[in-house]
Amino acid sequence: MAEMFIGGKYMEFPGLERFPVINPANGEVVDTVPLAEAEQVDAAVQEAHRAFPGWWDTPAARRGELLATAARAVLSHVDELAQLLTSEQGKPLRESRIEIRRFVDTLDHYAGLAKNIRGGYVPDLDEGTYGLVVKRPLGVVGAIVPWNFPTTLLGNKLGPALVTGNTVVAKPAETTPLTTLRIAQIMHEAGIPAGVFNVITGTGPVAGEALVTHPLVRKVAFTGSTATGKRIMALAADGVKRVTLELGGSDPMIVCDDADLDGAASAASVSRFFNCGQACVAVKRLYVFENVLDQFLEKLLPRVQRLRMGPGTMEGVILGPLHTDRQRRIIEEQVQDAIASGARVVHGGKRPEGELFEKGFFYEPTVLLSPSHDSRVAREEVFGPVLPIWPVKDLDEAIELANSSIYGLGSYVWTRSLDRASYAAHRLEAGYTWVNAAQKIYDELPFGGMKQSGFGREHGSEALDYYLETRSVVVRTTT
Ligand code: NDP
Repeated sequence: MAEMFIGGKYMEFPGLERFPVINPANGEVVDTVPLAEAEQVDAAVQEAHRAFPGWWDTPAARRGELLATAARAVLSHVDELAQLLTSEQGKPLRESRIEIRRFVDTLDHYAGLAKNIRGGYVPDLDEGTYGLVVKRPLGVVGAIVPWNFPTTLLGNKLGPALVTGNTVVAKPAETTPLTTLRIAQIMHEAGIPAGVFNVITGTGPVAGEALVTHPLVRKVAFTGSTATGKRIMALAADGVKRVTLELGGSDPMIVCDDADLDGAASAASVSRFFNCGQACVAVKRLYVFENVLDQFLEKLLPRVQRLRMGPGTMEGVILGPLHTDRQRRIIEEQVQDAIASGARVVHGGKRPEGELFEKGFFYEPTVLLSPSHDSRVAREEVFGPVLPIWPVKDLDEAIELANSSIYGLGSYVWTRSLDRASYAAHRLEAGYTWVNAAQKIYDELPFGGMKQSGFGREHGSEALDYYLETRSVVVRTTT
């Protein structure tokens, strides 16, 4: 039985209701976790609050060293953590290993920035008077993370929060708490002081809201759906708290008629079906110039047909199950709606058959051609292995359709023309544009959304400022 990690140890709270963590590949219970209520959330926040002055007082370079050491310790457990992640999330083991390594890379990146946290000096404000621009940590940060990339998305918050001197209370999704709990223990054993990084388990509406509204929590770093992001923003408003919102997306990819069609087909397939389509920056709408559509499909479909489906622990599996049965039902409804709107199912479109798939939440990789532009797959986020494709006559039509979404997270354009690439990259309404490249998020570049995909940035050195208060100090000297 897993317990919450608070103040440097697993803390038991007898009498709390418990929640089963289910293996999406077979429906079996992996473990159970307690469902925190306001009282336990308060215990975790109080520990983080107590640890804050000591952590802030620790020299930044030392915080960086401790973070780097903790990252090495996590890396040395990569196989154990990958098994745990696959068992609770469902993704193939290969992807779980990538995810743990990404978490480590991100902590390393921020550890390396420890000596770059700086303010400013402004001379001659008045006679004998100068000004200082002072940066200081905010205090306790609440980090709320979804189930699709439980560790990577935690690292994006933990790295900048800790290196700048804040302490953290994290709340993973109730369905994927186990890897996060174990990581907290490993990091503590590697030297992160008690109370600096705490993990609570529980539901969003109870534990999550208690964290967001706790008076000692100064900032909420949230990744999740747009609907929950709006709720968190409203709750945080009452305490005038800072929020960073990394929300849903419906990323468009445009394939022009002069593009490297092999490269584009490969990128579309990898990006759409990685993590069974449950990625915020997956290609969720594909716009292909109509004069190369047939050629493009000839290159795409064999790649989709080759995707091997099965439990994430099975050798050679590329496509695991969806995370929950609920997620699968949503996908099924979206596909049915697309078909009713006139879409042709080019591949998949149903649950796979066979003993291997009986108990898990599997769904075939699916390619849909020309659903209506009003259909759900065009308007909503499709968080599963479904790729809708629309023919377009030219780049302007593609950009107009790409921008017709409420979302603005990532976007892709494939062309061999520098003019077309620049034209599209400047006009696409998205926080990130990949030109002739597949979905890879770099620690070096700021990442985040426009429109209803949220605001605030993670990654890059830009993320540091989202965890720092900027103050001014005016000094008048008499000599
Ligand atoms: P949710 O918004 O449902 O949940 C995300 C987290 O918020 C979970 O930990 C959840 O807890 C918690 N939560 C839910 N309700 C509340 C509440 N009222 N107050 C506080 N916390 C709450 O998102 P999903 O789980 O559906 O995650 C998928 C979404 O995340 C997709 O929309 C995806 O696009 C987005 N995402 C965005 C990324 C980005 O960088 N922009 C990256 C990855 C994903 P619990 O589940 O335990 O109830």
